[in-house]
Amino acid sequence: MNLKPDEISTLIKNEIENYSNELDVSDFGRVMQVGDGIARIYGLRNCMSGELLKFPHDVYGMAMNLEEDNVGAVILGDDYTIGEGDIVKPTGTVVQMPVGENMIGRVVDALGRPIDGKGPVETEESRPVECPAPGVLDRQPVTEPMQTGIKAIDSMVPIGKGQRELIIGDRQTGKTALAVDTILNQKGKNMICIYVAIGQKQSTVAQLVQTLTDRGAMKYTTVVSATASAAAPMQYIAPYAGCALGEYFMYGGKDVLIIYDDLSKHAVAYRAMSLLLKRPPGREAYPGDVFYLHSRLLERAARLSDELGGGSMTAIPLIETQAGDISAYIPTNVISITDGQIFLESDLFFSGQRPAINAGISVSRVGGKAQTKAMKQVSSQIKLILSQYRELQSFAQFGSDVDPATKKRLAHGAALMAVLRQRQYQPLDLADQVMILYAAVHNMVDDVPADRMPQFEEAFRTYMTERYPEVRHSIEDTGELTKDTEELLVKGIRAFRKQFLSFNQ
Ligand code: ATP
Ligand code: MG
Repeated sequence: MNLKPDEISTLIKNEIENYSNELDVSDFGRVMQVGDGIARIYGLRNCMSGELLKFPHDVYGMAMNLEEDNVGAVILGDDYTIGEGDIVKPTGTVVQMPVGENMIGRVVDALGRPIDGKGPVETEESRPVECPAPGVLDRQPVTEPMQTGIKAIDSMVPIGKGQRELIIGDRQTGKTALAVDTILNQKGKNMICIYVAIGQKQSTVAQLVQTLTDRGAMKYTTVVSATASAAAPMQYIAPYAGCALGEYFMYGGKDVLIIYDDLSKHAVAYRAMSLLLKRPPGREAYPGDVFYLHSRLLERAARLSDELGGGSMTAIPLIETQAGDISAYIPTNVISITDGQIFLESDLFFSGQRPAINAGISVSRVGGKAQTKAMKQVSSQIKLILSQYRELQSFAQFGSDVDPATKKRLAHGAALMAVLRQRQYQPLDLADQVMILYAAVHNMVDDVPADRMPQFEEAFRTYMTERYPEVRHSIEDTGELTKDTEELLVKGIRAFRKQFLSFNQ
């Protein structure tokens, strides 16, 4: 290349003008000690709390403890490739979760990397996994129902959009089943679902994904999974990552349902991490900030004000208890953070009452305002009838001689209990629930044997759809049970009863 002298001088002048004498000194650190998923790093003077750190071999870590002469970091992944003296680079950002529409239908790990073998997820944005919850003025009250499709929940402990409702119970009492049915029921309801699996068996999660896929629910669901084999830090981040994804949709004006299955294992993962980081242990060896661990997560669920787009995020955390002890440390914490709890009981579960909801101590503190009028009309008596039934039952079991009035009440309670049973994977529409609950509350199924109830219900649904379609339409369109519809409904129930009972004599 031939350059003329004046060109050379302009080039040199340009270079001199653009020369800056600032040195690009990047801050870095060196690994002093590594093991058990924890690294102590020397250097990193300007490290932020929660900052994402880059180790060699594409391993990432998160700065947790900023101490005078070192930084304690948890390793997000495998730590065996890291050695003493390795260089650690700060990334200048906190841990992020990739977010976007393309995340829907995928199974990802706690850092948003796909693990379903369907190739990379194309996303353009990401959100920090830790994010302040919307403030008081950014919110509006919960007024819209979030139908779970489960009779016992929608009638007695209704959940509203933006609410936080805890599902709590011993192991194997149908906690996950309730959460999955709730996801299945969101089909066609314009709701985005996120299921966060924390510390569960891989096989359980695989089965769940299969169920959701088979029933067409993966079309609107993302599964964030940190199974029992994942490192404690991954289990720790998973719910925040899922929440960040939920926030993306919520701030986009959408309705989101997020399930944390379960927060007991989350607390255990955090405890393991904290002990390894040498943070002082407190009650049950949990660190002192374990309350904040869950409060800052659940506070991010909200119904946003109209100025912010009116989106919502409904959170359903799950907690596993030991021998029904809801007064243990983590259960009481989470009970106090949520807007109510659904308590599942082993005894009920094994006696065949499934879902095993204990109506006496299950509550929903804000959902009642969001309940549809039709449901309110039929469900206001249910809790009372059940509590009277339980009381009478404990008396009646001592003597065989009960007066006819008591007998009648017992039959009424038993029939209602039978109606509140529901098989898995069969969430019901609002209208279907209202119709059968109406019949149960108004003593119209008391003489149906409990073991025949499922058949009765199913045949009744078909009957009403065929003979009295206007009842369903009216409930769906108006959201209430008008006088005329009620009359038609009673007529339908009477006619069907006659037919069913004579046929089944
Ligand atoms: P874990 O503590 O292991 O997470 P869990 O409380 O989440 O258990 P599930 O796994 O949901 O409980 O349910 C336990 C078992 O009970 C499963 O085999 C499930 O199929 C069954 N089950 C749950 N709900 C019902 C129901 N309504 N009717 C019939 N079977 C049910
Ligand atoms: Mg479970």
